[in-house]
Amino acid sequence: MRQRAITTSGVWFLWINLVFCLFILGRHYFSPIQQIASITQSYPVLEVLMGLILAITSSVIFLLRMAPDQHAEWLSKCLHVALLCISALWVVCFYIFLVSGDSRIVFPFAALLIFTALISLYFDTRVLLSFTLPIWVVILVCNFVYPSDLTVLNAVLYILLAGLFESGRRILCGWFILAVRSEHENRDLIHQLQTLANHDPLTGIANRRVFHLLLDKALQRQEQCSTPLSLIMLDVDHFKKYNDHYGHQAGDECLIKVAKCLEEATRSTQDVAARFGGEEFIMLLPDTTAQQAIEVAKRIQQNLKALEIPHAESPVSPYVTMCLGIASWTPDISATRLIAQADEALYRAKAQGRNQWQLSHTEE
Ligand code: GH3
Ligand code: MG
Ligand code: MG
Repeated sequence: MRQRAITTSGVWFLWINLVFCLFILGRHYFSPIQQIASITQSYPVLEVLMGLILAITSSVIFLLRMAPDQHAEWLSKCLHVALLCISALWVVCFYIFLVSGDSRIVFPFAALLIFTALISLYFDTRVLLSFTLPIWVVILVCNFVYPSDLTVLNAVLYILLAGLFESGRRILCGWFILAVRSEHENRDLIHQLQTLANHDPLTGIANRRVFHLLLDKALQRQEQCSTPLSLIMLDVDHFKKYNDHYGHQAGDECLIKVAKCLEEATRSTQDVAARFGGEEFIMLLPDTTAQQAIEVAKRIQQNLKALEIPHAESPVSPYVTMCLGIASWTPDISATRLIAQADEALYRAKAQGRNQWQLSHTEE
């Protein structure tokens, strides 16, 4: 956030430096300000200094505008270096003004620069001080080295300026820290809400809501590129008996193990294993033909078998088993229809003795 802020408000500050520069360069046209015109005319080196500031500001503004956001760290470093150079150039410029004997010009310029720097860079003390401190120190020292009729008044003003600067910086920093903290808290909250909205609280895998969203998205993609897509609907066999025999707590633990087993069977980040409800799960397998989905189903059965979760009351196996119904996408099929096909295959798997997979009739 600090880097983003510095590259955004840094541009504004560079524009201010550029305008100040143009102001000094075009001093001959500001005839009412005779002081500036008369003083700077005899110092052609100012022209060079202003030219340098102009070149640095315009090129860094261009860089910050053109460079992509992901380079924010590099850009903020580049801006920091540019501001150091600009500060050094202003120091020389103010020095020339001061040795020329008119410190009245310096104070409004320096004060404006220091306060605009405060507004745009307050959140980064290092960058802010590296820009403002040299200017402040040089004009204060020069004020005494080259005394004028306004030496005492200027000294008071510079010290007052420092006090105002520091108190302002602390207030602004306080607000910035508050804003950063609340942004972090909001992000955490959004993340927590997203996790709650998208995940099943027991197993931690995707929930039915997010599954429907992902299936709809996947089917929309299918309209453009007709790649294969398959669904597997899964149901734990005789789970009521499991619950009755081992207790609800053990039932929960069993569902967590089954969910983990499904997640481990997914092959890519595209595949989604979700809890459909109760002891029913569903898997979305993009880019997967019916034949490949059968391989996934077999792998799930093997993995579950290897877990050997005891199920003393199951009439089909001494361990927990599942029925699996497989359906594959065909053109113009709706999400509801595709799920219904997988459900129909699952029903057949149950009817034909459980602990097996079946393919939707449309695939055969
Ligand atoms: P079938 O082989 O025909 O699928 O029979 P089943 O017993 O597996 O299915 P049934 O629909 O008759 O029972 C499902 C059971 O799953 C009933 C319910 O108490 C249990 N169940 C649903 N959700 C949870 C849960 O979150 N935790 C636990 N422990 N049990 C659950
Ligand atoms: Mg069921
Ligand atoms: Mg069941």
